[in-house]
Amino acid sequence: MGMSKEHRDLGMDNPIARRDFLNGVAIGIGGVAALASSATGQEPSGAPTNASDYPPVSVGLRGNYPAAVDIFDPIRQGKYTQFPVPDSDIKEDYDLVIVGGGMSGLSAAHFWRVGLGNNQRVLILDNHDDFGGHAKRNEFHHNGRTYIGVGGTLGIATPYPYSFGAKALISELGIDVARGRDFTNRDLETKYHLGVGTFFNKELFGQDLLLPGNVRSKDFVDKMPLSEEARKDLTRLLGKNPDYMAGMSEAEKKAKLAKMSFQDFLLNYAKVHKEVLHFVGGGSRNSKKVDSTPALEAARQGSMGTNGLGLKFEEERFNEGSYTLHFPDGNASVGLLLVSRLIPAVVGGQRLDMNNVVQAKCDYSKLDEADSTMRIRLGSPVVRVLNDAPGDTARSVKIAYIKNGKLQAVRAKNCILACYNQLIPALMPEIPAHQKEALAYPAKVPLNYTNVLIRKWTSFQKLGVSRISFPGMWFTSANLDAGSTFGGYQGVTNPDEPIIIHMTCTPGKPGLSRKEQNRFGAHEMLTMSFHDFEFKIRDQLTRALSPAGFDPKEDILAITTNRWPYGYAYTYDTLNDPDVPPEQRPHVIGRARLGRVTIANSDAGAAAFTNEAFDQANRAVEELFILNGLT
Ligand SMILES: Cc1cc2nc3c(=O)[nH]c(=O)nc-3n(C[C@H](O)[C@H](O)[C@H](O)COP(=O)(O)OP(=O)(O)OC[C@H]3O[C@@H](n4cnc5c(N)ncnc54)[C@H](O)[C@@H]3O)c2cc1C
Repeated sequence: MGMSKEHRDLGMDNPIARRDFLNGVAIGIGGVAALASSATGQEPSGAPTNASDYPPVSVGLRGNYPAAVDIFDPIRQGKYTQFPVPDSDIKEDYDLVIVGGGMSGLSAAHFWRVGLGNNQRVLILDNHDDFGGHAKRNEFHHNGRTYIGVGGTLGIATPYPYSFGAKALISELGIDVARGRDFTNRDLETKYHLGVGTFFNKELFGQDLLLPGNVRSKDFVDKMPLSEEARKDLTRLLGKNPDYMAGMSEAEKKAKLAKMSFQDFLLNYAKVHKEVLHFVGGGSRNSKKVDSTPALEAARQGSMGTNGLGLKFEEERFNEGSYTLHFPDGNASVGLLLVSRLIPAVVGGQRLDMNNVVQAKCDYSKLDEADSTMRIRLGSPVVRVLNDAPGDTARSVKIAYIKNGKLQAVRAKNCILACYNQLIPALMPEIPAHQKEALAYPAKVPLNYTNVLIRKWTSFQKLGVSRISFPGMWFTSANLDAGSTFGGYQGVTNPDEPIIIHMTCTPGKPGLSRKEQNRFGAHEMLTMSFHDFEFKIRDQLTRALSPAGFDPKEDILAITTNRWPYGYAYTYDTLNDPDVPPEQRPHVIGRARLGRVTIANSDAGAAAFTNEAFDQANRAVEELFILNGLT
C-alpha cells in the first residue's frame, strides 16, 4: 500500500537525513553527510562522512536506541544467569571495570585515578555507541556549517545543590559555572524580539490556533479559545488568590496538601474548570505532571492558585529556571571534558576546558587502545556480573558483555555498576531478595528530546515566537535552539538560514500514579517506530507553523529523535511513596555493596541530576577504597 496523502503532504517520503539511521545505527557508508547533501542538493564541506567514526552525527532514532537496549529483555528473562563465557576465554584483567559510561561512570574513573594514579588499569563498558549516558550531542552538517543540538542532559544547574566534591570536579574540568551567562545567545529575544506562544489544537479546543503571548498575562487569557468559565478561573488563579483552605491551621493545610495531587487541589479547593488544567504544570522538578505532583510541592514552588494559602517554607527553594551553564550540546561537553582527562589521545593531547571543548573533535578510535591503561569500550552491553566467591570472600569479579554480536568477558579486582539500577537484579541474580526488591522499586522518568534541523525560521519570526507550548499534544514544546556561543560556536544567524528546533515530550497517561505513568511512557516510546515519532513531529510543527509559511516538505532537513525510556532517576514524593526514615529508602538499601561490586549512577541517589551522578560515583569509589584498605 502506498503512502497516504496526509503523510505525503507532511513530507514523510522526503529524502532527509534520517532514514539510514532509523534505529540509530549506521547501515550504509556515506551516512548522514550523503543524505544531508541529497536533502540540500549540495555537498556539505567538513562534515564527517561516517557516523560510525563519529556518533554525534547519527540521525534518526537515538537516545536509548533499539540496538543498545533490546538486549535488556533477554537479560531480564535470565538468558545469561549461568555465566556465559568460560574462564579460559577471559583474556583481559583490570583493576577496575565500570559498567556505564554516563556522568557517573566517567567520573568514577576520574575519582579512582585521582586516588590511585594513572597506572591503574580501568575499563568502562557502555551499551551505546557514544559515551556520556544521557548527556548526548546531536550534530547536523548542512552546506558546510555545523549545527549542534542537545540530545539529553541539558546543563549544569545553579551550583547550589552541588556538593563540594561535585563542584571540585566541575572546576577541575575547566568549567566556571558563573561564566555560563556570558555565552548565552540572546539573539532570539533581543535582536528578533521573539517570545512564547501556545498552540491550541482542534481535538481539545475546537480549532488549530497558535497564539503568541504568555499564559500568565490576562490579555492572553482573554484571547484563549476556552469556555468563559475556564478563562475566568485562569484569570483568578493568576491574581492574588483567596485562602482556598480557610479554617485550617498551617500544619493541617500542609498535611492535607502533601497527600493530594495539585490537580485535586485545583479542582476541589480552588474549584477551577477542568480546561484550566491544560495550562498548569506540575510546578516541580523531574517532569511531574499536574495530576502526579503533590499539591504541597506545587505550593512550595509558588505555583498558581497557592499564593493565598499563607504557607511558609523553611527550605531554600531550588529555582529550576536558574541554569547558568548550558553548552550547545548540553552536558555532552562535560562528558568530553571528562573523557579528554581520562584518555588525552582522543583530542590529540590537547588540554580542554569550557572555552575550547565545543569545537574539539573527539577521535573515537582512540577510546579503547590496547596499550592505554584507561579504556572505554562502546557498543558493549554488559549481560552478567559475577563475584568469584560469596560476600567479602570475593577476590575478583567477572563481567560478561556482548561486542559485535559476540559474548566476551573480562576480569577485574573491582567493579562499579554505574548503569541503570533497575537492571542490576538481572545482572547479578544472586543478590539478596530484599535488595532486589529495593532496586526494582523506582520507575525511571521517560523523556524525549528531539532535534529538527530546518532550512529557515521565517515562520517563527512572522508569528513572533521562539518557544511554543502544545497543551494536550504528544510533544509539549518546540523551541528554536539559538545555540550558546562557547568557543566561537554560532547557532542563530538570520531567519533565512537553518536552525535547530528542539522538541520535548515527557510521555505518561493522565490518571495513573506517577510510577505507572512513567512505565506507560517508557513502554510507549519503546514500541514507537521512528516513523511514528516523525509523524508526530511533522504534524505538530505543520499545524502550528504552516499558516506562517512553514512547509514540512521543503523546510525539514534532518531529524534526530532521542528517546529516553530509561530517563531521569526516580525521586520520592509525599503522594506516591511511603514516609520512611532516609536510611530505609529503597535506593539506600538497593545500593549496598555486593562483594567487590559497588553501585553508582544517579539512580543510587534517587535524585536525577548530574551532581548526584558525580556524588554517587564518589561514594561507590570510596566504598571500594575502604574494602581494599586504602583509606
Ligand atoms: C532528556 C534528559 C535531560 C536531562 N537534563 C538534565 C539537566 O539539564 N541537568 C541535570 O543535571 N540532569 C539532567 N538530566 C538527568 C541525567 O540523568 C543526569 O544529569 C546524569 O546525566 C545521569 O548520569 P548517570 O551516569 O547517573 O546515568 P546515565 O546517563 O543514564 O548513564 C548510565 C549509562 O549506563 C549505561 N548502561 C545501562 N545498562 C548497561 C549495561 N547493561 N551495560 C553497559 N552499559 C549500560 C547506559 O546506557 C548509560 O550510558 C537529564 C536526563 C535526561 C534523560
